[in-house]
Amino acid sequence: MTNHMADDCELCEAARFTHWYYEDEVCWVADCEACSTPMVVWKSHGTRPSKKDLAWMLERLEEAGVERFGKGVGSIDRTMRQVPEHFHAHWRDPQWLSRRWTEIPSKYSGVGGERSLLK
Ligand SMILES: [Zn+2]
Ligand SMILES: [Zn+2]
Repeated sequence: MTNHMADDCELCEAARFTHWYYEDEVCWVADCEACSTPMVVWKSHGTRPSKKDLAWMLERLEEAGVERFGKGVGSIDRTMRQVPEHFHAHWRDPQWLSRRWTEIPSKYSGVGGERSLLK
């Protein structure tokens, strides 16, 4: 599979600032810099992943949500507000709106493993 990338797309750029939960050849899951909740990002620049890739990505996102908040807390939000031309989805826990103002952001410390915070 060759991934299509776009210049000047922050999701293609995939800068590693926050905690990364997961990565494979299809997608990556990391804390969203703006929302501070887990976000899955397709590794191709586009909005129409195959059914198989889509199901795979949403499962990986849910796993990150469970890891972060526990089982049964939160749900998938597929609205693409900031980058509408590149598929991504957020995990939203009930406190996500206040979280972005009150919580210390996580930092990148390798894929998976312990989630550590920026001091
Ligand atoms: Zn976000
Ligand atoms: Zn992109």
